[in-house]
Amino acid sequence: MEAARSDAASAADNPLLGAWDTPYGLPPFAAIRAGHFPPAFEAAMQAHRDDVEAIAASREPPTFANTIRALDRAGRLLERTSGVFHNLAASETSPELQAVQRDLAPRLAAHGSWVHTHAGLFARIEALHAEREALALDPEQRRVLERYRSDFVRAGAKLDPEAKARHAEIVRRLAELTTRFGQNVLADEAGYRLELRDEADLAGLPDFVRAAARQAGAERGFDVPVVTLSRSLVVPFLTFSERRDLRERAWRAWTTRGEHEGAHDNRPIAREILALRCELAGLHGARSYAEHALQDTMAREPGHVRTLLEQVWKPACARAAQELEALEALALSRDEPARIEPWDWLFYAEKVRKVRYDFDEAQVKPYFALDRMVAAAFDCAGRLFGLSFVEQPQVPAYHPDVKVYEVRARGGGALVGVFLHDNFARATKRSGAWMSSYRVQSRHGERGDRVVPIVVNNNNFAKAAPGEPTLLSFEDARTLFHEFGHGLHGLLSDVGYERVAGTRVLRDFVELPSQLFEHWLAEPEVLKRHARHYVTHEPIPDALVERIHAARHFNQGHETVRYAASALVDMAVHGLETVAPQLDLAAVERDELERLGHPAVVGMNHRLPHFQHLFSSAAYAAGYYVYLWAEVLEADAYEAFVEAGDPFDPTVAERLRRCVYAAGDSVDPTEAYVAFRGRHAHIEPMLQQRGLIDVDD
Ligand SMILES: [Zn+2]
Repeated sequence: MEAARSDAASAADNPLLGAWDTPYGLPPFAAIRAGHFPPAFEAAMQAHRDDVEAIAASREPPTFANTIRALDRAGRLLERTSGVFHNLAASETSPELQAVQRDLAPRLAAHGSWVHTHAGLFARIEALHAEREALALDPEQRRVLERYRSDFVRAGAKLDPEAKARHAEIVRRLAELTTRFGQNVLADEAGYRLELRDEADLAGLPDFVRAAARQAGAERGFDVPVVTLSRSLVVPFLTFSERRDLRERAWRAWTTRGEHEGAHDNRPIAREILALRCELAGLHGARSYAEHALQDTMAREPGHVRTLLEQVWKPACARAAQELEALEALALSRDEPARIEPWDWLFYAEKVRKVRYDFDEAQVKPYFALDRMVAAAFDCAGRLFGLSFVEQPQVPAYHPDVKVYEVRARGGGALVGVFLHDNFARATKRSGAWMSSYRVQSRHGERGDRVVPIVVNNNNFAKAAPGEPTLLSFEDARTLFHEFGHGLHGLLSDVGYERVAGTRVLRDFVELPSQLFEHWLAEPEVLKRHARHYVTHEPIPDALVERIHAARHFNQGHETVRYAASALVDMAVHGLETVAPQLDLAAVERDELERLGHPAVVGMNHRLPHFQHLFSSAAYAAGYYVYLWAEVLEADAYEAFVEAGDPFDPTVAERLRRCVYAAGDSVDPTEAYVAFRGRHAHIEPMLQQRGLIDVDD
């Protein structure tokens, strides 16, 4: 009795288990503590198991409604709890939450394996799949059935009992390892600081970098400016600092995250992940993890990925070699050594850009205040898709910097979604920028009503000092638009089933809505309207817009080589057919770069020991190529607006909304694209966009 009563009391006190009587059904953030998660997950997993057992034990013959629809609606509490947990663990973590995360990750993975290999449930799915032609399903239902069946097969539902058990064990262990990997990178990033002690240490840094470094120092309790390994601070530092020695120190710290002996060493973790993935692929009869992973993508097989990457590799290297010559010439003109080191590239590139295009970052940033760029993104969403965003300052989120918006159809129409915007870097947030959801769209509401999605965008912009506006670089503004494009994919989702809602698409399709949205930022009309000087409110001068456009191919050789090198190394490590226990990661990376003839001075976007795309989850494992794959689609898709002669052409925009942003994975992605464009994508617009083929301009 005593124990039962204390359980009941703790359940009543646990905000994760009660009804959420909050605006929009947002989590009651202020009441949630790390300690609430373990019991909430216990209850949620049990409720989900009960749901699954009930579906499997039904005496009714399987139907779409009593099996697939029921499965899609199962586990509400788990879905809700996971939404809040994974979001907080990524953007407002704590040592307590990290401990819960390490403990929970393998148990959630084991739970997922249990559901997706449930023999009774799988038998019903197989029976439905076998008679799918006779079921009179609509196209979305047909697709949802296929997707669930694929989830079960890929989770090992068809394996013999011994292999199935091993499969589940591998998945459980991988969850442990990938969690650890991400936490180690965060530890290396949060733990590092380069103190800038006097004016000599600050040489070359424009005001905005100084302000951001001062702010970073203040947040960490230092009275001197510091450089951290937040991308929005370390990249500007490498771009502007006149101090070659300090640039080298920052660059070395940045490129060796995860690669230090001791508690946060990611090398043994990555090695074990690779070995387990290889074994897992073998259980499915694939020769490598890349082969296994790519079966569930548009690309379908590693050969198609390599072909695409190799199409850009040679021209990108040629372009990077030209860029290097220009940097060397510039260094010589300043009576400095012509030999460019990796930590010099951004510094001299910025100088070349200033000479060649007559503008620099410091000139551009005053026109790109964060608030104005947010307004620009909202305005574009309004003009394209008829959405309006209204801030709800009275609605609290999990951190004072997070803004909550109501998203409605223009003119005060129906509530479309809720949007949370979390833009600033902080020590409790992982690096990078991403979109995720607290609630996913479906039509599982009462009487089949649309469940309104709750979407969040995270960025890592260096926050300005109190009272000062945060100024973005053009690249930062592009990131803002990119993530907002993902956000729209979640917000505009209009499907029946969660399994195919919003961004739950094939992963080489998922970057299409985000990368496509970047185009509107670069539209001169949008810049004239929104890029206004933060002091004078003057619109950005035409001449500066022209120069930004003229410079759009600048440094693209460097960018493309860095990206493609990382993508090809990803394909190499996940293409291994055996992984030795003592596999030397650095050697695999080096061998592949040598094979490619990679110019070392250019570097890579991510080296293996901190390559979170590959090792913090399986989402981009053998999948870093997806950005380029999606760019082929996105560059070709934007041409539809160019052909229409209007970046906001209503007919094209409506087709884009219907076929891409609203459709989720309810339609095969190739078919969805063809429905939008009237044909398959051509590769040339992507090559032109990157300046990798000659264009007549
Ligand atoms: Zn993205």
